[in-house]
Amino acid sequence: MIKRTLSQVAMMANGSLVDAQFKDVVIHGVTKDTREDLTNSLYIPIVGENFNGHQFVEQAIKEKGAAASLWQKSEPNPPTKIPLILVEDTVEALQQMARVYRDELQLTVIGITGSNGKTTTKDIVTSLLKTTFRVHKTAGNYNNHIGLPLTLLSMQEDTEVAVLEMGMSDFGEIELLSEIAKPDAAIITNIGESHLQELGSRAGIAKAKLEIAVGLKEKGILVINGDEPLLTENVSSMPFEIITFGMKEKNDYKTTIEEISKDNTRFSVNGLTYTIPVLGQHNVMNAVASIAVAHHLNVSHQSIMEGLENVSITGMRNEVVHGKNKVTLINDAYNASPTSMKAAIDLLASLKGFNRKIAVLADMLELGEDEKQFHYDTGAHVSGKDIDYVFTFGPLGTDIAAGAKSAMKKSNVTAFQSKEELISFLNGFVQPGDIVLVKGSRGMKLEEVVQSLS
Ligand code: ATP
Ligand code: MG
Repeated sequence: MIKRTLSQVAMMANGSLVDAQFKDVVIHGVTKDTREDLTNSLYIPIVGENFNGHQFVEQAIKEKGAAASLWQKSEPNPPTKIPLILVEDTVEALQQMARVYRDELQLTVIGITGSNGKTTTKDIVTSLLKTTFRVHKTAGNYNNHIGLPLTLLSMQEDTEVAVLEMGMSDFGEIELLSEIAKPDAAIITNIGESHLQELGSRAGIAKAKLEIAVGLKEKGILVINGDEPLLTENVSSMPFEIITFGMKEKNDYKTTIEEISKDNTRFSVNGLTYTIPVLGQHNVMNAVASIAVAHHLNVSHQSIMEGLENVSITGMRNEVVHGKNKVTLINDAYNASPTSMKAAIDLLASLKGFNRKIAVLADMLELGEDEKQFHYDTGAHVSGKDIDYVFTFGPLGTDIAAGAKSAMKKSNVTAFQSKEELISFLNGFVQPGDIVLVKGSRGMKLEEVVQSLS
């Protein structure tokens, strides 16, 4: 984590230290939340919609052991006799500190964006690179205009590679993150339908993701999903090395799925075979993008194989859970969009050796005015697939069920309106040897279904 004196911090943050007697106080790290460990850290009070961090500044320093705090000039009555740095805007100051810190370190930065698979790809890239480098990665989902700077500032000074997830919900956000992080390599995993409400169209989504090129270093590489025309069409004039991955023949990393089992997935890239201990074609794509970055950083083939073998993915993303009564669960309750839900349906359909295959699907949120159609189409995606039952939950889940009914035996599809009803039904219904996929948006909290079956 960052260690600097307050006079250094004031310079980094474009701020001014209120009381010069504190100039040699040293901060160890930066924190924005008084519920975290604040010992010796710099507290960043953020003015939010529902709360204002400035009300906790005195408590942070006097009771929680923070070394100092920022203070936004527009806030009245700054406390006296404690180490405060005055800034115009605390969030901008945080971002500016991260920019300077990033520039001060001898660091390679990998930036990852895309509609789905950012966190997973971050985990895989990290697993490959940590065989060879000291790597720091985004914790959990700290991928926005506050999380990304905090991630950078939590790096040790001797970090060699930072792997950063970049999330967004509107134009301009990835541009800011890329400009702060200045990646040496950037990955765009895919273009889906998340945030259509704000971005208007899939072309808009692609444009927003391509903002990651804004801060890309001159000799950097841009790794993109080459099966997505909205990406390939828009990169030809960019002054970077473009590397494509995907299933199509023309890709630099042409990928073929060899076999998907319950425990791992085997695939080949340009004739070489690899195995990852995670499931599904979409995770293969995430792995191949990661391999491209590892090659760029000259990680050996041996180390890449070792890194793939040891991949561990942040929870609730296609996580295989051994449930009670010999039922296998695929816990994908972390989140959902049409792209990722169809990918999960394909995964369930491709797995062999189970009694019955059951998809438990719930609402996908924030899809804009065509949301009903998206849900219907996702349900209809089961058409011709090896899936026995579809059970849905939630108001839009009903549209998934309608789509599924158009595509498979109607009596094997049921739409539930209450989660309790769904849970009690499933507990009576599942049998040993069944496999159950559980997926829906974060807000639907489908992990409760997983918990009831495990
Ligand atoms: P968020 O925007 O919430 O941060 P994310 O982009 O970080 O999401 P992950 O958390 O890695 O995405 O994965 C979320 C879900 O998306 C997974 O559980 C999986 O179902 C699906 N997914 C992962 N990778 C891909 C991909 N390359 N293509 C389509 N779907 C994917
Ligand atoms: Mg994520």
